[in-house]
Amino acid sequence: MKTKNVRLSTSSSLQEDFDDPPPSGRVAVNPTPFLENLSSKESGDFVVSDHSLKFLERHFPGTTIAEWTDWKWQVRHSFTSFDQLEKVLNLSEDEKGFKEQALHLPIRVTPYYASLLDKYDALQPLRRTMIPVLDELIVSKGEESDPLGEEHDSPVPLILHRYPDRVLFLVTGFCSAFCRYCTRTHMVSKKDKMHAGTSQIDAAIEYIKEHTEVRDVLISGGDPLTLSDDRLEYILSRLRAVEHVEFIRIGSKVPAVLPMRITPALTQMLKKYHPLFISLHFTHPDELTPETREACNRLADAGIPLGSQTVLLKGINDEVEVYKKLTHELLKVRVKPYYLYQCDPIPGSSHFRTRVARGIEIIKGLRGFTSGYAVPHFVIDAPKGGGKIPLLPEYFEGRENGEVILRNYEDKIFKYPDYA
Ligand SMILES: *Cc1c(COP(=O)(O)O)cnc(C)c1O
Repeated sequence: MKTKNVRLSTSSSLQEDFDDPPPSGRVAVNPTPFLENLSSKESGDFVVSDHSLKFLERHFPGTTIAEWTDWKWQVRHSFTSFDQLEKVLNLSEDEKGFKEQALHLPIRVTPYYASLLDKYDALQPLRRTMIPVLDELIVSKGEESDPLGEEHDSPVPLILHRYPDRVLFLVTGFCSAFCRYCTRTHMVSKKDKMHAGTSQIDAAIEYIKEHTEVRDVLISGGDPLTLSDDRLEYILSRLRAVEHVEFIRIGSKVPAVLPMRITPALTQMLKKYHPLFISLHFTHPDELTPETREACNRLADAGIPLGSQTVLLKGINDEVEVYKKLTHELLKVRVKPYYLYQCDPIPGSSHFRTRVARGIEIIKGLRGFTSGYAVPHFVIDAPKGGGKIPLLPEYFEGRENGEVILRNYEDKIFKYPDYA
């Protein structure tokens, strides 16, 4: 079987590195107890949990820990088809149903992240986020392939300019793992929108230079941390050279799906471009493995403030206790929960989407009950380009005789003298 590296553009300097044959794994005999006892050891340059080590020994015999902890090895050996996944997972009927009908919808899971998937339980949260099921083929009312109307806010290729003072700069369409609920599925699956070429990058930076109102650039994609250090530094240094760009951010899921990408060389390079923030994408507390914790700590040690963005997903993280545990695990590695997103209505997302009320209940279950730092903004990215709209539980009960009536987290009523 050949890897589907057609999803990497020819302009990618990484492409040549990624064309090794895919894994020829063996079937596991005994399941390991899932994500418990995540003990780990330092191996070479990066930490490897015992859990992932067992997976490596079973499915990639002959592979060294040095190879496993090399992020390019991880990308080259990623699972991109059901034929490969079948070697490490017992497919459920729903997964098999998808396999037979929709080979054209791309799959991508790093071996590291695959090691976290439960071989037998198709309903395990992490497995549901990566392995497609038949439901993904059902298009429901209100679903669209570009729900946020992003194509309309793009003045030049790679730039989305929706808000007055900041832009989204989509430097690549490539991700090291394809989340099934991804808003930009319409983009990551198009091979003409992979790693952007230098002339497109330069043209986008030219746009930013000409627009002196842009003080904040959010580098996203795809996943910018799948670019080589040199490529990323080219972009960062050129943005830093623009005087009115005060603040740069990167959006990435790499610490969760490809944590070994966070090398000392990368953090050394990133810290030259402060103030630089990184928004990470996390879904579930099971993602906070020793490897991912190491990646977050390395970024935080480089002085990079870290935020997290989570998509609210039915049966995955839509319980207060699950989401709260995620926020607590994130704060332990210096990641501040930033946004909790209502799931965007992309085609085939109804099995992931909760009612909007669920998100409000989660915020209600957090505020006051745990650290304020653990409470994100719950937002809906409004369809057709309305931007992010925050939603809050009802704490404001109205005004009466010059007083504001307020409800606290315990549902007790308080009054504030608002006579002024
Ligand atoms: C989310 C987003 C931003 C950044 O929004 P913040 O609320 O500042 O984090 C900028 N541009 C676009 C198009 C976005 O979707």
